[in-house]
Amino acid sequence: MRSLQSEIEQHGRRILRLVDQHPESLFSKAGFYQRLMALSMRDEQFKLQLFRFVDVLPSLQTSSEIVEHLEEYFADVRDGFAPFVHAGIRLARIAPWLSGRVLHWNVSGMAHQFIAGKDSHDVVKTLRKRRAQKIGFTVDLLGEAVVSETETDEYAARGLDLLETLAQETQGWGDPIGRNSDLFPVVNVSIKISALYSQISPADPADAIAHLTPKLLPILRHARERGAFINLDMESYAHKNVTLELFKKIFTDTEFEDWPHVGIVIQAYLRDSEIDLHDLIEWGRARGTRFAVRLVKGAYWDHETIKAGQNAWNCPVYSQKPESDANFEALTRLLLENESIVTAAFGSHNVRSIAHAQAFADDLGIDRSRFEFQLLYGMGGPIKRALVEMGYRVREYCPVGELLPGMSYFVRRLLENTSNEGFLRAKFAENLSEDELLRDPRELLRKSRNGVLPRSNNLTTHAMKDSHPSHSCSLDTPPGDTYENAPLTNFAQPENQDKMRKALSEMRTRLGKEYPLVINGEKIFTGKTIASINPSSHGEVVGAVAEAGIAEAEQAVKAARDAFEKWRWAPFEQRAQLLERAAAIMDRRRFELSALEVFEVGKPWAEADGDIREAIDFCLFYAQQMRLIGRPRLTQHVPGEESYYHYWPRGVAFVIAPWNFPLAILCGMTTAALVTGNTVIMKPAEQSAVCGAMLMEILEEAGVPPGVLNYLPGKGSVMGAHLVDHRDVDLIAFTGSREVGLRIWQSAGITQPGQRELKRVVCEMGGKNAIIVDADADLDEAIVDCTYSAFGYQGQKCSALSRLILLEENYDRVMERLLKAAASVRVGNPEEPGITVGPVIDEAAYNRILDYIQIGKSEATLAYQREDVPAKGFFIPPTIFSDVKPNMRIAREEIFGPVVSVLKVRDLDEAIAVANGTDYALTAGFFSRSPANIERAKAQIEAGNVYINRSCTGAVVGRHPFGGFKMSGGGTKAGGADYLLQFLVPRVVTENITRHGFAPEQTPEYRDEFLWPKPK
Ligand SMILES: Cc1cc2nc3c(=O)[nH]c(=O)nc-3n(C[C@H](O)[C@H](O)[C@H](O)COP(=O)(O)OP(=O)(O)OC[C@H]3O[C@@H](n4cnc5c(N)ncnc54)[C@H](O)[C@@H]3O)c2cc1C
Repeated sequence: MRSLQSEIEQHGRRILRLVDQHPESLFSKAGFYQRLMALSMRDEQFKLQLFRFVDVLPSLQTSSEIVEHLEEYFADVRDGFAPFVHAGIRLARIAPWLSGRVLHWNVSGMAHQFIAGKDSHDVVKTLRKRRAQKIGFTVDLLGEAVVSETETDEYAARGLDLLETLAQETQGWGDPIGRNSDLFPVVNVSIKISALYSQISPADPADAIAHLTPKLLPILRHARERGAFINLDMESYAHKNVTLELFKKIFTDTEFEDWPHVGIVIQAYLRDSEIDLHDLIEWGRARGTRFAVRLVKGAYWDHETIKAGQNAWNCPVYSQKPESDANFEALTRLLLENESIVTAAFGSHNVRSIAHAQAFADDLGIDRSRFEFQLLYGMGGPIKRALVEMGYRVREYCPVGELLPGMSYFVRRLLENTSNEGFLRAKFAENLSEDELLRDPRELLRKSRNGVLPRSNNLTTHAMKDSHPSHSCSLDTPPGDTYENAPLTNFAQPENQDKMRKALSEMRTRLGKEYPLVINGEKIFTGKTIASINPSSHGEVVGAVAEAGIAEAEQAVKAARDAFEKWRWAPFEQRAQLLERAAAIMDRRRFELSALEVFEVGKPWAEADGDIREAIDFCLFYAQQMRLIGRPRLTQHVPGEESYYHYWPRGVAFVIAPWNFPLAILCGMTTAALVTGNTVIMKPAEQSAVCGAMLMEILEEAGVPPGVLNYLPGKGSVMGAHLVDHRDVDLIAFTGSREVGLRIWQSAGITQPGQRELKRVVCEMGGKNAIIVDADADLDEAIVDCTYSAFGYQGQKCSALSRLILLEENYDRVMERLLKAAASVRVGNPEEPGITVGPVIDEAAYNRILDYIQIGKSEATLAYQREDVPAKGFFIPPTIFSDVKPNMRIAREEIFGPVVSVLKVRDLDEAIAVANGTDYALTAGFFSRSPANIERAKAQIEAGNVYINRSCTGAVVGRHPFGGFKMSGGGTKAGGADYLLQFLVPRVVTENITRHGFAPEQTPEYRDEFLWPKPK
């Protein structure tokens, strides 16, 4: 008996020979496209610019816009093809209308190579041609980037229309093979769930399924009636579990349990795909009706790798291409071995993958007509032809839609066609030998384990790491760059959803407890308490903390002052390790702390988790930073003398934190003070005092000595003001409102009798943050990100979007989609997963925001206000005002709630002037695909954190040091490399090291800390 490998080779060689009989270049459309692809494969920079240009092109309205973009994208192109590009640019300058049109026409032509028709009628022409070639079809409606439920309704309606048109137009079409045709209906439609529900949250599959089911049912019923086949496509990993669960749930229902013409996709590049496939097969056997699986490698490899890298997640996809190939083969075997219940479709253009499926099916004696090969429209034409000639069933995946919604699909295809790793490029562009093309991927992997396999993409090195980051750092590398952030919790994973649910129900049983003050390590109940209540449910007390008055404040200052004399001399390594232990405790108690935030401050799950992650990051980052600055550093190499620059702590720090990041901000300011050797009086906001008590508990468990940290909740106006003015307080770290911040700034400037130090104030205040949406912005992204920036956590982030600045050119387009998107966001009790908008913090905030809404109604036009918000709890409906002018109160004053003012401007000059025309300078955003405008925004927008083409909230420690200037703050950057310096005074110690004319030849760059007595 011949080995499987030799059978694979035999099949593979046959396919390749047939392919070579009908030579066709990789890119069947000759000329413009072919040239560009060839250039792209030679030069990564050109490829990047080209794909970006292609991405923006369909949204450009005029020829001159097209030419401007052409110039901006390619003006810097050097290299062998520079003359080609520059000639184009010169021509474009002379005749913009002509060049613009020609370019648009050419790029449309390129895209239409992959898009089979612009609508259901148009595509039928293509399908007829394929039918003549004995190729079947599955039609996919483009438009995955829906941003509102109106758009999903439109998509569902188009899906129904598509089904009906296809059913009518294909009446009488027979099966191309003529055997087992009952398994393969002629009409086959592929559906993406993200186009049917705009608010899918990976954390909440139940909600997604509840919304997707009613959208899908009419389509499924219609398909069944018309004898069609429905396939659920697979998208990004975040949607995978929802898709699988939805599929199983709907098709287990009695209405559909006996319907065999349904299919789903398994992506072999996913590490957990084998488990999923086993699970599906088991499900299918229990159901007792045949179903189909399309096996693919997966189209979102870059996306998954980038996302995992950004969130410090274990990367869900394999990092080496042969791993995906080998897994594809393993899953092929699993599918064919279970042929009695599952119909296999192999979605690949890779001749080795295809030949493997053929050889294995032969081994099992499975007839060629019982499975099929699926290939994409516009790709691998000769392979399709060869497979048909060999008597296999071939189906083509035919996307239908207009160019604009089709752009992301088109760019994915361009990436795939030019990928270094791709089979098509290897075969058709690089003409690799048959042996190389048909090589067993497992053999390649064996070699790679011996270190032979070249790695083609360095993105993976970061993302593939499975272990917790090491936080190693060196004195020579930029500090921000050596720090690897703590991971976010990935709520797409069911075990994390379960942990969060469990934490919430456990936390509920602990609500209402009382928490003491902690002064000098002593727990003190004062007889007076501050109650912290659940903003989602007025009557529910989350906890009560003892309230400190002036007497306790005095005790705390004394304790901190006394403790300072010892703590300041504790080696920085000891202090850094304290922070690291605290981080480890927070990590261990992560879900519990998140659950507390949900109850105490109304944070949605992911926001609460983000806050805990940030707190952990602050601890680890500041520990690392302290190690970098802790050792005295030589100032200059001078013969005979050495001078060492180093830092001393300032003294007693009074930390005053807000409630909106109840753990992170409090923890960030506190740990910065502690690690630098200061002692701390920690005052949380009254609304989040239980979170403050938790932080105290954590730092105590981590080993903070008595008096070094004192927990002192109380009234800001009484106890807080007393401490701000206190002569023994050396530093005030404040984050909060402008009103209070300015008062502190002023009071701290007055020197009290007996005061030792000039008080340092670290002051971070509010913002009136603007996002500008440029005329060429990608609206699919801009709408989603602006909606989130404005309404995420109810707009109660100091970084939240408050002023949306729209160019009149695209004002109507943006507004139309924005209002519908605002109508779609999920508002509700954040105990539910996947909520975007929960309650505002308390009654005072509730009334203040409602007052602003009244002011908005009198000043501007109420463009949208949500109606269906819960009656119980402090829920403010997401609200959008239009016709807002820069001088109106709603455009100038911080509202701190889910309210957005939209300002219409003539052009980018005016947009930037309006964005900058505010007292504040905290965050700002700019959506654009014009490289020149992006450069300009980067240079001119006045804000401490400027975000381009992304939301303006969600700063990450170390990566986006956070803080503003003007009336937003004193220019300090939390989570930045220079933050700790605010908590320190610099000092230089100089020694003459010459003795009678001789001196050491070398002085070390760093020396040990100046500590006396030296620690043993
Ligand atoms: C009919 C059809 C339908 C499809 N439907 C879907 C779908 O619903 N969902 C979906 O996600 N995809 C889908 N795809 C798959 C996807 O769009 C690509 O076409 C496919 O992954 C390309 O694989 P290949 O076997 O043709 O080519 P090959 O060149 O053999 O493989 C390329 C693939 O390998 C993987 N890869 C690349 N680099 C690496 C690396 N460094 N480490 C690990 N793996 C790597 C990627 O998945 C990449 O796409 C479909 C494909 C077809 C043909």
